[in-house]
Parts: sequence; structure tokens; C-alpha cells
Amino acid sequence: MMKSAIHNPQSAIKRVVLMGPPGAGKGTQAKRLVEKFGMIHLSSGDILRAERTGGSELGEKLKKYMDAGELVPDEIVVDIMAGAIAKQDTEKGLLLDGFPRTVAQARALDEQLEKMGLPLGAVLIIAADESLLVDRITGRRSCPKCGAVYHVKNIPPAKEGVCDACGSELAQRADDTEEVVRQRLDAYRKQTEPVIDYYTADGRKIITLDGGSPLEEVAQQAAEALRAGS
Ligand code: ADP
Ligand code: AMP
Repeated sequence: MMKSAIHNPQSAIKRVVLMGPPGAGKGTQAKRLVEKFGMIHLSSGDILRAERTGGSELGEKLKKYMDAGELVPDEIVVDIMAGAIAKQDTEKGLLLDGFPRTVAQARALDEQLEKMGLPLGAVLIIAADESLLVDRITGRRSCPKCGAVYHVKNIPPAKEGVCDACGSELAQRADDTEEVVRQRLDAYRKQTEPVIDYYTADGRKIITLDGGSPLEEVAQQAAEALRAGS
């Protein structure tokens, strides 16, 4: 029998940027990839939400942008993410989810990884048609305690409103409304899609998957693509 690649980080591309519009399934797939390959998952959205909970002056500023569905200014995000990356044992691999989201962020990340001697291995894009995304996002429910992500119709928990993994009450994100989603999609189109052009022009390895496919199919394709490229 072939040896399983589970928890064998050597067998896959190690440093990956995960891109795709809001609701494409980045967080969902990131969890699966981490289970398979053991890399460190850093979601800029999760990190910024954690920063907000303290009620600091910075937290109030973040809230203003995030609740409106606008991108947080580059200098703030780059500073926070550079700190988060520097803290990690990047030898395990790094899966960046939601960062970079502008060309300026992508350049700053390149500079940091170059200084660390750890260049990016691939850009994994989960593409999805906009018509799917509003339903995906407005139906998303997350566990505030363990971070598990569900969907009211597509991926429901066994008991409505309750996390299968830890039993906590599920919550809906404040920015997961139809109105804010439209703004977030607009920001993706205008500010984040150019990041794909930046990586393409620079000859990076780009893997594009169809995020409209069933979850397990996307997971399998993502794992295969990262293994094949290693
Ligand atoms: P992102 O991190 O890209 O914003 P999520 O991973 O949070 O997206 O997924 C958005 C919503 O869509 C969640 O409710 C999730 O359960 C659901 N979802 C994710 N992948 C799929 C899929 N392949 N098919 C159906 N629903 C999905
Ligand atoms: P997400 O959890 O990825 O959907 O992100 C939620 C919100 O956090 C976004 O709508 C932005 O306001 C903010 N955000 C997350 N990542 C970034 C980033 N890399 N640059 C700017 N803003 C970000």
C-alpha cells in the first residue's frame, strides 16, 4: 500500500498563498490542507477579528473598515501579518489565507519571505462564480470557540445552530449580510484580482481550482495539486 501523506509536510509545497473571492471556500479548504500537511494556517480575517475583540483604539479602527466590507489599509494589515508570520515556525510550512489582498501587500510579503530565505511555493486560487457567493456567505455560520465553519443548507451541523465539534452556539459574522457582501466582492474585483496578475507576471506557480464543486472534490484537488508541485 502507498504510504499516506498525512502529517508529512515534506510531501507538499510548503509556502502557499490561498486566494479567492469571499465565500469561495478558503477557510474550509485551509482546515483540510492543514489536517493533511500540517502547515501553519494564518487567516488575516481571523487575526484581524481577534485584534478587534480587545476594544483597543486599533480594534475600533478595524471595525469601521471590516463592518463596511472595505479592506483594512495596507500599512495596518502588513504590520499585523508580518508580526504573525515572524512568530511562526515556518519550517512547518505556511498557508496564508486572505493575505495578501492588494499588490502592495504582495510586495511586502515577498520582501519579508525573501529576508527569511523562505520564498512562496505556490498561489492556490479557489475560483467561484459570483452568483454562488452571496448564498454561500449569507448562509455561513461559524463556531466562535473552535472556528469550525458550516453552511445552513450546504454543510449544516447535526443540530441546528450548534457546533458538531465542540457543542458551542454557532454565530453569523456581522459582515456576512447581502449588502456588505456586495461591497466585499467589489473590493475583491478591484483590489485583489490585480494580485493574481502580479503573481502571474512574475512567473509564480499558480493553481486554480473550481470552488463551485463539492467540498470534498475541491479538497482532493487542492491536496493533489500541492503534492504534485512539491
Ligand atoms: P472563505 O474563507 O473563502 O470566505 P468559507 O470557507 O468560509 O469561505 O466558505 C463560505 C461558506 O460556503 C461557508 O458557509 C462554507 O460552509 C460553505 N462552503 C465552502 N466550501 C463549499 C463547497 N465546496 N460547497 C458548498 N458550500 C461550501
Ligand atoms: P475575511 O475573513 O477574509 O472574509 O476578511 C474579513 C474582513 O477583514 C475583510 O472584508 C477586510 O475588511 C478585512 N481583511 C482581511 N484580510 C485583509 C487584508 N489582507 N487586507 C485588508 N483587509 C483585510
